[in-house]
Amino acid sequence: MIERPRGTRDLLPEDMHTRNRFEETLRRTCTNFGYREILTPTFEHTKLFTEKSGPSIVEDLYAFKDKSGREIALRPEFTASVMRMYAQSLRERPKPLKLFYFGPNFRYERPQAGRYREFWQFGTELMGPDTPRADAENIALAYSCMRNSGLRDFQLKISHLGILETYLREKNVAGGDVRKIYHAIDRGNIEEIASGYGFMDELRMLLSADMEGMRDMVDDTRSMDHLQHVLNTLELYGINGECYTVDLSTVRGLDYYKGVVFEMEAESLGAEKQICGGGDYSLGDLFGVDISSKGFAIGFDRTLLALEKDSVSYHEWEPTCYLIPLGEGSMPFTYELLNTLRGKGIIADIELMERGVGKALAYADRMNFRYSVIIGEKEVEEGILTVKNMRSGEQMTMDKEELVAELEKHES
Ligand code: ATP
Ligand code: MG
Repeated sequence: MIERPRGTRDLLPEDMHTRNRFEETLRRTCTNFGYREILTPTFEHTKLFTEKSGPSIVEDLYAFKDKSGREIALRPEFTASVMRMYAQSLRERPKPLKLFYFGPNFRYERPQAGRYREFWQFGTELMGPDTPRADAENIALAYSCMRNSGLRDFQLKISHLGILETYLREKNVAGGDVRKIYHAIDRGNIEEIASGYGFMDELRMLLSADMEGMRDMVDDTRSMDHLQHVLNTLELYGINGECYTVDLSTVRGLDYYKGVVFEMEAESLGAEKQICGGGDYSLGDLFGVDISSKGFAIGFDRTLLALEKDSVSYHEWEPTCYLIPLGEGSMPFTYELLNTLRGKGIIADIELMERGVGKALAYADRMNFRYSVIIGEKEVEEGILTVKNMRSGEQMTMDKEELVAELEKHES
């Protein structure tokens, strides 16, 4: 038997049911905030990612040469693609430009619970304004996405990369070494680089400091005031100090971030607990455009795992009506009824396996249909249908119009 490639999943009908509900929630939340959906190609020139995305992603690329020898990679994330799209097609649009996307990403990682080689991201970009209020809008949207999904047990951590950068500059740490320290912090393991620097204990203190502690340790009023302004604005969205922690150890793994960054975690997921990451970044120089952008990406699959742990379940699939025609003579009437119901957007299905009434009803029950209608030639002649409520077992008789009206009540 040919098996699935490592790190991939088959998504069953019930998985897709839940995923679609979650996706609808995220789409609706972004739409409410004035964002519009876009989609970029699944593969791009490898260079788009190798230039700026940072080692953690570049090492994981699914990259290959196509038949004409072009260096191609499956996208490991959307941000660089959205920036390319902006530079090519959207730069003349009025600002702010508010965009969201949803689709699969590919990373050649070591698969484990919550970490796959094909996984989905739902994300956003807010392009144009470089103000604290834009940072707040970005974070408020990410937070609303999570809340609206029903998730309760998660933590939001907010930071400002400028503070750490200023601190490291004061310690005479230069360019590449700053990145090295960021990556070690992101992996939660500053020990791996500690031996090279004399200020590691102090850095550790800074990483766990509150706002006041930071002000004492780092002379960077500009970043600190910016961050405070963002937090004050979040308050206006109803997101107060109880909803987040300020945490300088939130640095993000990608090399293009600057300014305000944030992450969300669901502790219930254990090691792979990060469910969303985002912030303020600059990628425009890759394409010769000067544009501020703030966004985030929700790990769609991981958040679903967190929702499951949080016992949030979306409604089960409940198709509305199962039609069981008996004999050739009842086919025209039954199909006409089927077409009417489907035409009204009612989930209706018809017995295709020509089973007897008992087996057909058992199927309708297993599939969770609300109603079954058995249609014999006598019913067709008299125009009176026997409708079975599959929940209560109750049988009712009604004509076609009454049936349609009854079923329409259940569609929303
Ligand atoms: P991690 O530190 O867990 O590797 P990351 O920093 O690489 O995450 P991002 O590139 O910021 O993740 O992507 C945003 C979100 O996408 C993450 O918060 C996570 O929920 C999800 N994600 C990242 N990689 C995977 C993966 N291999 N499988 C499933 N979800 C993933
Ligand atoms: Mg990663």
